[in-house]
Amino acid sequence: MSAAVSFLVVNFFIGLCFSAVFAVVSIYSRWRSAALLFSAGLFIASLTMLFELAVAYANNPRPWSIAVYGTVLAGLVLLHKGISTLYGKPFPIWLAVSTFLAGMVVYMMVRDIPRSWWGYGFFYQGPYALVTLSAAASVFASERRAPMDKSLAVVLVLSGLHFFLKAALAAAMGPGATPSTYISTSYAVMSQSITAVLIVAVGLMLLAVLTLDIMAVERGRAERDSLSGLANRRGFERAVKKAVARSGERQHAVILCDLDHFKAINDTYGHHAGDMVISAFGTMIEVQAGAGTIVGRIGGEEFAVFLPDTSPAIALAVAETLRVGARKMMVPGLPGGFVVTASFGVAALQPRGGLESALRQADAALYDAKRHGRDCVHQARVA
Ligand code: GH3
Ligand code: MG
Ligand code: MG
Repeated sequence: MSAAVSFLVVNFFIGLCFSAVFAVVSIYSRWRSAALLFSAGLFIASLTMLFELAVAYANNPRPWSIAVYGTVLAGLVLLHKGISTLYGKPFPIWLAVSTFLAGMVVYMMVRDIPRSWWGYGFFYQGPYALVTLSAAASVFASERRAPMDKSLAVVLVLSGLHFFLKAALAAAMGPGATPSTYISTSYAVMSQSITAVLIVAVGLMLLAVLTLDIMAVERGRAERDSLSGLANRRGFERAVKKAVARSGERQHAVILCDLDHFKAINDTYGHHAGDMVISAFGTMIEVQAGAGTIVGRIGGEEFAVFLPDTSPAIALAVAETLRVGARKMMVPGLPGGFVVTASFGVAALQPRGGLESALRQADAALYDAKRHGRDCVHQARVA
């Protein structure tokens, strides 16, 4: 088996493996259609390797040559469509089909030109290069700027340019006098080895982009409370620590709130009515606390609010607004006129003091509010 044939076989299996992996990833990714397009594109492109062997060994290589060209082009167009979907850039089906057909027309026009002509490779590889560079442009044009997105864009640009490199190599080394003799040239070995590296590079980048997205979605779920829709304790702490780290030396405030006699609401009106109270209270806090604040449900009927760049005096006023807001809530499942109340503890959060210490102080103030008859706001003694 010649070196080029071994590379063809290896590339065939690399393509198939990636195709299978993307099919599996599509089950878990919210970018299902993009993952399926990658899977289909890599599957079709991997068939190229079989057609290359048919070109080399079949009696009539002409139809197989068309299949080789068509499968690479179709694979690249599908990858482009998947990438455009993933990055929110338009690449409508009519344009994808037209791109494919235009590339095939270029191929049909150059296929009978002598392969030894230096321009042959550039026309042959040109449509591949343009489709790949156009896919790279979709990534560059998108608002997504994470390191993995940038790496993908760079790898796509290199992949696009490598087709021109192949054209130059073909002109320099000779691509074989006919399609059938291509397989025995050193150009074929060089070309297929570069292809192997690029399939792996592009495949891994796309896989990484989809996998990181799945991880981000899962983390979002793990940090959210499904009843109130607010951040849970973990999500609240992470968001606050991030906000504090970004804010320099400013002073912030935290408010802890706890529904009063909530157990009695559950016992009297049922667990579902209790759930409605939690949900309504969470919505009320989010609306009243306003933009820039971080709100979390950090326990059963206990909520926390982070107020960035806020003095304790302002935080006390905000807590008072929330206290009044709780009393005005209309909760489905509770009799009309039923007033829900909550108690509040307010503490300052110094950037160097840490969130845990501020929450401990707010909790002590909340305990004071409970001891002083509930339905009131207390400020932490050590502010
Ligand atoms: P206090 O005024 O001292 O805060 O009294 P309380 O009854 O509100 O506090 P306690 O800690 O005695 O009871 C809290 C109750 O909240 C107990 C628990 O069953 C209930 N609870 C916790 N999570 C949920 C939930 O998700 N849904 C419902 N319906 N009830 C919950
Ligand atoms: Mg309570
Ligand atoms: Mg409680």
